[in-house]
Amino acid sequence: MIELEAGPEVEPSQAEAFRQEVRAFLAANLTKELADAPRTSLLISEIPQQEWHRILAAKGWATPSWPVEFGGTGWSAEQHQVFEEELSRANAPPLSAFLEMIGPVLYTYGTEAQISRHLAPLREGEILWCQGYSEPGSGSDLASLRTRAVRDGDDYVVNGQKIWTTYAHQADWMFALVRTSTEGRPQAGISFLLIDMTTPGITIRPIRSIDGLHHLNEVFFSDVRVPVDNLVGAENAGWTIAKFLLEHERSGVGSLLTLKGQLDRVRAVADAAFDLTDPGQAREHGAIDYALCECEITLQALDAFNQRQAALSVRRAVHPAGPSMMKLAVTEVQQKIAELGVRALGIDALRDQSALVENYRPELMRGPPGGALVMLHYLFGRAFTILGGTSEIQRNLIFRSVGASASAP
Ligand SMILES: Cc1cc2nc3c(=O)[nH]c(=O)nc-3n(C[C@H](O)[C@H](O)[C@H](O)COP(=O)(O)OP(=O)(O)OC[C@H]3O[C@@H](n4cnc5c(N)ncnc54)[C@H](O)[C@@H]3O)c2cc1C
Repeated sequence: MIELEAGPEVEPSQAEAFRQEVRAFLAANLTKELADAPRTSLLISEIPQQEWHRILAAKGWATPSWPVEFGGTGWSAEQHQVFEEELSRANAPPLSAFLEMIGPVLYTYGTEAQISRHLAPLREGEILWCQGYSEPGSGSDLASLRTRAVRDGDDYVVNGQKIWTTYAHQADWMFALVRTSTEGRPQAGISFLLIDMTTPGITIRPIRSIDGLHHLNEVFFSDVRVPVDNLVGAENAGWTIAKFLLEHERSGVGSLLTLKGQLDRVRAVADAAFDLTDPGQAREHGAIDYALCECEITLQALDAFNQRQAALSVRRAVHPAGPSMMKLAVTEVQQKIAELGVRALGIDALRDQSALVENYRPELMRGPPGGALVMLHYLFGRAFTILGGTSEIQRNLIFRSVGASASAP
């Protein structure tokens, strides 16, 4: 769920006119190649994703939810909704999740120099970022992180290791949490640093994930000198920024827009996979179809919840557990949809996936939905209930803000 600025109220006829404007823009700019581009996770669609990002940025629509002075559109909640709906309908590639993570951090906590250096290239899709939070032994218990940054003149000298760093091998910059003090509570000694990935002393080692592809990395820092000017917020005050960013990350995991498209593709796969004249196959198809309908109803309910949160955010009245509730529910339904795709295809899904991983080329992912894509969704989808904070951690957070007050005497 994104925080929206209070945009103007829009008359129904104006909303319809806006819808037509978005449709006309999509018809003119969203090529078939971009619409058909694969999108199991973010990485696989990286080239079309960047191309689409630049097209939206040229129109001024890449970061609609940002404050207007930083490149937002000032749309009403309804216009945001129309925009999302039309992008979903046209099957537009989703933009990088990092956009709505580091962007809000920079314009909320960054110095003027940081804003003027980083915000425009981020908004325009020219610079890629990665997230250096997790470390071996510091995932859910993030505050225990040990990568040290020691002040030396106008620099910090960074030593340590990050892990599970998505896109580190492609990123130009990393936003990282580092330990600048060991005094007091662990949270009180953490700072938020922007690190240029070309700085000497950084080593990146790939991790191949369960889908067989390379999204993830280990990143090692050995006496990496980072200018003090790259500190966001005050030294040792990074924990507040870290949590602020995580809320934006949780809101972005598994967007409803992408999920609806995924559900439609799985339905098409299931429809094509069964011979409905065979009673056994027809029964299995019916069971899958029924389960997909249940997922669709859940998506509609989540969409309604999301819209309500968006409307409340204009009044700065969102429920504090909202991002955790959405992250938990969205990722679980995402996994269910992916499982149904695999159930429909059976062993074919696995065979196509193996062929894809052995000869990975983006073209293989284009065209009508096949087993490879279904299996990639299923395999990589296992990660969605882990990254950005596991489901167990989300349940703890929800309990803290909802359950604790409800169970109070
Ligand atoms: C595909 C993928 C991409 C990722 N990308 C990035 C990235 O770009 N940058 C980055 O910094 N990190 C990234 N991560 C890391 C991710 O944030 C961590 O994996 C996540 O926070 C969990 O931490 P962990 O892996 O150390 O598991 P652990 O924290 O060790 O958890 C292990 C298990 O214990 C459970 N558990 C732990 N603590 C509690 C508790 N208090 N109560 C109940 N259960 C608990 C967890 O739910 C989990 O089931 C990524 C992870 C994945 C899978």
